[in-house]
Amino acid sequence: MSRIQLLNPRLANQIAAGEVVERPSSVIKELLENSLDAGATRVEVDVEDGGIKLMRVRDNGGGIDKSDLPLALSRHATSKIRELDDLEAVATLGFRGEALASISSVARLTLTSNTSDESAGWQVTAEGRDMQAELAPAAHPKGTTVEVRDLFFNTPARRKFLRTEKTEYNHLDDVIKRQALSRFDVAFTLRNNNRAVYSWREASTQIERERRVAQVCGPAFMEQALHIDIERSGLRLWGWVAQPSFNRSQADLQHFYVNGRAIRDKLVGHAVRQAYQDVLYHGRHPAFVLYLEVDPSTVDVNVHPTKHEVRFRDNRRVHDFIFSSLHHALAQVRPGDRLESET
Ligand code: ADP
Ligand code: MG
Repeated sequence: MSRIQLLNPRLANQIAAGEVVERPSSVIKELLENSLDAGATRVEVDVEDGGIKLMRVRDNGGGIDKSDLPLALSRHATSKIRELDDLEAVATLGFRGEALASISSVARLTLTSNTSDESAGWQVTAEGRDMQAELAPAAHPKGTTVEVRDLFFNTPARRKFLRTEKTEYNHLDDVIKRQALSRFDVAFTLRNNNRAVYSWREASTQIERERRVAQVCGPAFMEQALHIDIERSGLRLWGWVAQPSFNRSQADLQHFYVNGRAIRDKLVGHAVRQAYQDVLYHGRHPAFVLYLEVDPSTVDVNVHPTKHEVRFRDNRRVHDFIFSSLHHALAQVRPGDRLESET
């Protein structure tokens, strides 16, 4: 008798969900990425009970065609790449075609969308069971709303790993803030248990951008931060770095983006640490909001399912560029500033 069997699609999706859907904040991250990829200029997030009971992301992006709606929930279904070559220079945040399939296998998911302002919209629902989604007409302006309820309702082992509502809420708040810093041209709103937490308008001028950074990182960060913008041989690094006197006991105020994607990368971390090495006390951490722009074909984003890591084609060059840019900026700070510390 044959012992090897194909997994049924639901189980396959639940296994994949283990990689991308760890907690409510991972769902929020995927949904926000989809909204941004759809060209939204306004994204509204609603959560209840730390996202465990409800997460709703509503955008004014391009929407999903009626005929594509059921496909959007299928695994390995994406509108973002078609062939391997596309992956070489992927410009969207998503490309794996896994998020919605994974989320809908471990929660109750409703997707409502409309591709035009004229017609009515359509809705599909999937409740952690099969991937046969039912289509129904539904009113919706141009754009998409994804509603995710009862995360892990059918996977008790995973639900046990969830922390308190407060902790889960803090994680998802972090994720939204991280995204809000990646796209100043998009308005972000968060409501928690039906109460408005923040509502940030599009920031197009430098003053508006700095206001958003202050809202996310705190006014104390912005008041002393150095603004940098350095370009050299096809690489650009811009953003705000804290003076050495504004240092932290934890690495909790560090935002680094590569081509608009928030990443946590060893190479980048090392380059930044090295630049601060001589001006920071041992055990203290720098604070920064930095944007690295590189030719997309010189960076591989398909390294990890959560897409938090990247791989540069020319490590050494990127490392040296980040190090020397920051080193140079920090060298302009008066030496007397370096001994005080905050937090
Ligand atoms: P991926 O983002 O990797 O393509 P997802 O599972 O996150 O995979 O989404 C599947 C597809 O559903 C996307 O490729 C996109 O076409 C569509 N989609 C998902 N969310 C949205 C949205 N908010 N607006 C428009 N299209 C969306
Ligand atoms: Mg996606």
